Amino acid sequence: MRRLETGMSASLFSTRRVGDVTVTAISDGYMPDSLGFLTNIDPADALRLQHNAGAPDPTALHVNGYLLRMRGHTVLIDTGTGGLRQSGGKLKDNLRLAGVAPAEIDAILLTHAHPDHIGGLLKPLDDVGFSNAELVLHESELAFWQDDGHLARASERARGAFLIARQAFDENRDRLRTFKSGEVLPGITALPLPGHTAGHTGYRLDAGGNSLLIWGDIVHFPAIQIARPDVSIAFDLDAELAATTRSKLLDSVVTERLPIAGMHIGELGFARIERTGAGYALTYDE
Ligand SMILES: [Zn+2]
Ligand SMILES: [Zn+2]
Repeated sequence: MRRLETGMSASLFSTRRVGDVTVTAISDGYMPDSLGFLTNIDPADALRLQHNAGAPDPTALHVNGYLLRMRGHTVLIDTGTGGLRQSGGKLKDNLRLAGVAPAEIDAILLTHAHPDHIGGLLKPLDDVGFSNAELVLHESELAFWQDDGHLARASERARGAFLIARQAFDENRDRLRTFKSGEVLPGITALPLPGHTAGHTGYRLDAGGNSLLIWGDIVHFPAIQIARPDVSIAFDLDAELAATTRSKLLDSVVTERLPIAGMHIGELGFARIERTGAGYALTYDE
C-alpha cells in the first residue's frame, strides 16, 4: 500500500492508511554522516552491514518527516534540517508536492529537538509558512535544551545543537505546547523513548483498529542498529539508556506486530520488524 487513492502527485511518496488517517513519509533529503560516530561496533563490520543492505552511500543519513491527514487535523511530525549545513532541506517543497501547503498544518509534533528535526523552525512559524501550527513536544525535551547547566557541560558539537533548539523555541514561544505522556491529539499517543535525548518521543497512531508507531532516532543506520541494537551513536545523550530503550522497543513492536515508521529508516518510510537470531531485521512495506 504505497499509493494514495487521490491525486497523482501524492503517489510520489510512500503512504499508508491507518483507519481513516492517511500517513505520508515526506523526504527531507540526505545529510552526510559517518560510521565512525557509531560505538560498540568495528567500523569494518558496520560497513559490511551497510553494503549487505545495498546502501548506495553507506555514510549518508536519510531524513523523513511524516504528514498525517486525519479528520479535523493536518499534522506534521518533525520538520527536517531546514537546509542547515547545506544538507536536506527538501521537506517543505516535498510537502507541497504531496498536496499540502505549510499553512494547512495545524500541529507540528516533535520527536526531539536535534537540528535535523527542528531545523525547519528557526524562524517564527508565521515566517516559515506554518502560520496555523502549534508546536508540540515533551516537557523534558524543552527543559533540557533550556537548561544552562546542560549547555555549560556540553561538547563543542553539542553546543551548536543547543543554540539551534533555543532559537526555534525562542522564535515560537507563544506556539509551544508540552506534554508528559498520553494522548497529544485524538488517536495519537506520545510514547517516551528516553536516551537519545532527554525527551525523545515516539508517536503511536491508533485508528479504526489499526496502529502505527512513528519513532524519531531509535536508529540512525537501520541496517546496522536493528541488527545490532547494542550499537549506539555519538549523538545519543545517554548511549546506554538509548540502547536499552531501542532493545525494549524492538522487542515490543515485534511482540505486538506493530508497523513502524521513523525519521532515519530511509525513503520508503514504513517497515516491519522481525526477530532474527541475536537481533532483529527490518523489512520495508511495499
Ligand atoms: Zn537526534
Ligand atoms: Zn535525527
